[in-house]
Amino acid sequence: MCVFCRIVKGEASGEIVYQDEEVTAFRDINPKAPTHILVVPNKHIRSLAYVEPEDTFLLGRLLQVVKDLAHQEGIERSGYRLVMNCGYGAGQVVNHLHLHLLGGWRLD
Ligand code: AMP
Ligand code: ZN
Repeated sequence: MCVFCRIVKGEASGEIVYQDEEVTAFRDINPKAPTHILVVPNKHIRSLAYVEPEDTFLLGRLLQVVKDLAHQEGIERSGYRLVMNCGYGAGQVVNHLHLHLLGGWRLD
């Protein structure tokens, strides 16, 4: 089982900031920004390249969770960036689809 599946199931340590039946969000272990959260489907999907038509709603849910987390983290006003690496060549290291939510930079 992949590391993100284990975090979703509570079998590996992770600082979970949100979880429901479909989506889990936890802090990146090696943050690249003051706020760096990974948002993942609970279901194991290797990458965007492996998404099926029936996953369309799930992909939308990931973005809804991002929006709510941005509010929760207080980074709506300062702005945030989403990154999704797809494939080894793009730097995808963990083969479980995930969105990076990056933000929290100072406004000045
Ligand atoms: P990517 O390069 O898009 O596959 O990103 C994988 C991300 O997962 C990296 O930013 C890692 O720091 C992060 N990561 C790897 N293992 C863990 C873990 N056990 N808990 C939290 N974040 C992790
Ligand atoms: Zn997985």
